[in-house]
Amino acid sequence: MTSTLIQKVFRWARRKSLWVLHYNSGGCNGCDIEFLDLLTPRYDVERLGIRQESVPRHADILLCTGPVTRQSRDRVLQIFTQIPEPKWVVVVGSCGCSGGVFQGSDYVLGGVDQVIPVDLYIPGCPCRPEIIIEGLIKLLEKIE
Ligand code: SF4
Repeated sequence: MTSTLIQKVFRWARRKSLWVLHYNSGGCNGCDIEFLDLLTPRYDVERLGIRQESVPRHADILLCTGPVTRQSRDRVLQIFTQIPEPKWVVVVGSCGCSGGVFQGSDYVLGGVDQVIPVDLYIPGCPCRPEIIIEGLIKLLEKIE
Protein backbone atom coordinates (compact mmCIF):
# COMPACT_ATOMS: atom_id res chain seq x y z
CA MET A 1 0.00 0.00 0.00
CA THR A 2 1.29 3.48 -0.80
CA SER A 3 1.53 6.04 1.98
CA THR A 4 -1.20 8.13 0.30
CA LEU A 5 -3.55 5.15 0.37
CA ILE A 6 -2.71 4.46 4.02
CA GLN A 7 -3.42 8.11 4.86
CA LYS A 8 -6.75 7.85 3.01
CA VAL A 9 -7.68 4.72 4.99
CA PHE A 10 -6.75 6.47 8.27
CA ARG A 11 -8.83 9.53 7.32
CA TRP A 12 -11.80 7.35 6.41
CA ALA A 13 -11.55 5.36 9.66
CA ARG A 14 -11.18 8.52 11.75
CA ARG A 15 -14.20 10.10 10.09
CA LYS A 16 -16.25 7.06 11.04
CA SER A 17 -15.09 6.96 14.65
CA LEU A 18 -14.53 10.32 16.28
CA TRP A 19 -14.13 10.10 20.03
CA VAL A 20 -15.13 13.22 21.91
CA LEU A 21 -13.80 14.33 25.26
CA HIS A 22 -16.17 16.77 26.90
CA TYR A 23 -14.91 19.37 29.36
CA ASN A 24 -16.80 22.14 31.13
CA SER A 25 -14.29 24.93 31.61
CA GLY A 26 -16.61 27.10 33.72
CA GLY A 27 -20.17 27.20 32.37
CA CYS A 28 -23.53 26.85 34.12
CA ASN A 29 -24.09 23.20 33.03
CA GLY A 30 -26.89 24.15 30.61
CA CYS A 31 -24.80 23.28 27.55
CA ASP A 32 -23.51 20.12 29.25
CA ILE A 33 -27.04 18.81 29.65
CA GLU A 34 -27.71 19.50 25.96
CA PHE A 35 -24.50 17.69 24.98
CA LEU A 36 -25.45 14.67 27.11
CA ASP A 37 -28.75 14.52 25.21
CA LEU A 38 -26.74 13.53 22.14
CA LEU A 39 -25.78 10.27 23.84
CA THR A 40 -29.38 9.26 24.56
CA PRO A 41 -31.36 6.94 22.24
CA ARG A 42 -33.34 9.95 21.00
CA TYR A 43 -30.35 11.58 19.27
CA ASP A 44 -27.95 8.61 19.31
CA VAL A 45 -24.79 10.18 17.86
CA GLU A 46 -23.03 6.82 17.98
CA ARG A 47 -24.80 6.03 14.73
CA LEU A 48 -22.57 8.73 13.20
CA GLY A 49 -19.46 7.16 14.75
CA ILE A 50 -19.25 9.81 17.48
CA ARG A 51 -18.80 8.55 21.03
CA GLN A 52 -17.83 10.02 24.36
CA GLU A 53 -14.36 9.35 25.70
CA SER A 54 -12.94 10.27 29.08
CA VAL A 55 -9.23 9.70 28.46
CA PRO A 56 -7.50 12.54 26.54
CA ARG A 57 -4.97 10.19 24.94
CA HIS A 58 -7.82 8.26 23.27
CA ALA A 59 -9.78 11.30 22.12
CA ASP A 60 -9.90 13.04 18.74
CA ILE A 61 -12.05 16.02 19.68
CA LEU A 62 -12.00 18.25 22.73
CA LEU A 63 -15.53 19.61 23.15
CA CYS A 64 -15.56 22.52 25.59
CA THR A 65 -18.56 24.14 27.20
CA GLY A 66 -18.43 27.32 29.24
CA PRO A 67 -15.93 30.17 29.36
CA VAL A 68 -12.36 29.64 30.49
CA THR A 69 -11.84 30.72 34.09
CA ARG A 70 -8.61 31.42 35.95
CA GLN A 71 -9.04 28.05 37.67
CA SER A 72 -9.74 26.01 34.53
CA ARG A 73 -7.13 27.59 32.22
CA ASP A 74 -4.28 25.21 33.09
CA ARG A 75 -6.60 22.19 32.98
CA VAL A 76 -7.84 23.11 29.49
CA LEU A 77 -4.25 23.49 28.28
CA GLN A 78 -3.23 20.20 29.89
CA ILE A 79 -6.09 18.24 28.34
CA PHE A 80 -5.47 19.82 24.92
CA THR A 81 -1.78 18.90 25.11
CA GLN A 82 -2.56 15.30 26.06
CA ILE A 83 -4.80 14.68 23.04
CA PRO A 84 -2.70 13.23 20.20
CA GLU A 85 -2.58 14.82 16.73
CA PRO A 86 -4.62 15.15 14.62
CA LYS A 87 -7.10 16.75 17.01
CA TRP A 88 -9.91 19.25 16.83
CA VAL A 89 -11.46 21.63 19.32
CA VAL A 90 -15.20 22.28 19.30
CA VAL A 91 -16.77 24.95 21.48
CA VAL A 92 -20.42 24.55 22.41
CA GLY A 93 -22.33 27.55 23.78
CA SER A 94 -21.97 31.29 23.70
CA CYS A 95 -19.87 31.29 26.88
CA GLY A 96 -17.23 29.08 25.30
CA CYS A 97 -17.32 31.14 22.09
CA SER A 98 -16.85 34.55 23.70
CA GLY A 99 -17.32 34.46 27.47
CA GLY A 100 -21.07 34.98 27.03
CA VAL A 101 -22.96 36.06 30.11
CA PHE A 102 -19.81 35.68 32.19
CA GLN A 103 -17.87 38.27 30.17
CA GLY A 104 -16.23 40.91 32.34
CA SER A 105 -16.13 38.75 35.46
CA ASP A 106 -12.85 38.94 37.40
CA TYR A 107 -12.49 35.17 37.30
CA VAL A 108 -13.26 34.67 33.60
CA LEU A 109 -10.58 34.96 30.92
CA GLY A 110 -13.09 34.76 28.04
CA GLY A 111 -13.79 32.24 25.28
CA VAL A 112 -11.88 28.99 24.87
CA ASP A 113 -9.85 30.49 22.01
CA GLN A 114 -8.10 32.70 24.57
CA VAL A 115 -6.21 29.57 25.61
CA ILE A 116 -6.23 27.00 22.76
CA PRO A 117 -7.00 27.08 19.00
CA VAL A 118 -10.66 26.40 18.18
CA ASP A 119 -11.80 24.63 14.99
CA LEU A 120 -15.55 24.96 15.36
CA TYR A 121 -17.78 27.40 17.26
CA ILE A 122 -21.37 26.36 18.00
CA PRO A 123 -23.09 29.36 19.67
CA GLY A 124 -26.35 29.29 21.61
CA CYS A 125 -27.46 29.62 25.22
CA PRO A 126 -27.87 26.77 25.63
CA CYS A 127 -27.13 25.04 22.33
CA ARG A 128 -29.91 22.75 21.16
CA PRO A 129 -28.82 19.14 20.53
CA GLU A 130 -29.83 19.42 16.85
CA ILE A 131 -27.46 22.38 16.41
CA ILE A 132 -24.61 20.50 18.09
CA ILE A 133 -25.19 17.51 15.77
CA GLU A 134 -25.24 19.83 12.74
CA GLY A 135 -21.94 21.36 13.85
CA LEU A 136 -20.31 17.97 14.41
CA ILE A 137 -21.47 16.78 10.98
CA LYS A 138 -19.88 19.89 9.43
CA LEU A 139 -16.66 19.02 11.24
CA LEU A 140 -16.85 15.42 9.94
CA GLU A 141 -17.20 16.78 6.40
CA LYS A 142 -14.23 19.09 6.97
CA ILE A 143 -12.13 16.18 8.24
CA GLU A 144 -13.08 14.08 5.22
S1 SF4 B 1 -23.98 29.32 26.93
FE1 SF4 B 1 -25.70 29.57 28.36
S2 SF4 B 1 -26.32 27.47 28.86
FE2 SF4 B 1 -24.27 27.34 27.97
S3 SF4 B 1 -22.86 27.40 29.71
FE3 SF4 B 1 -23.14 29.52 29.02
S4 SF4 B 1 -24.82 30.36 30.25
FE4 SF4 B 1 -24.87 28.11 30.45
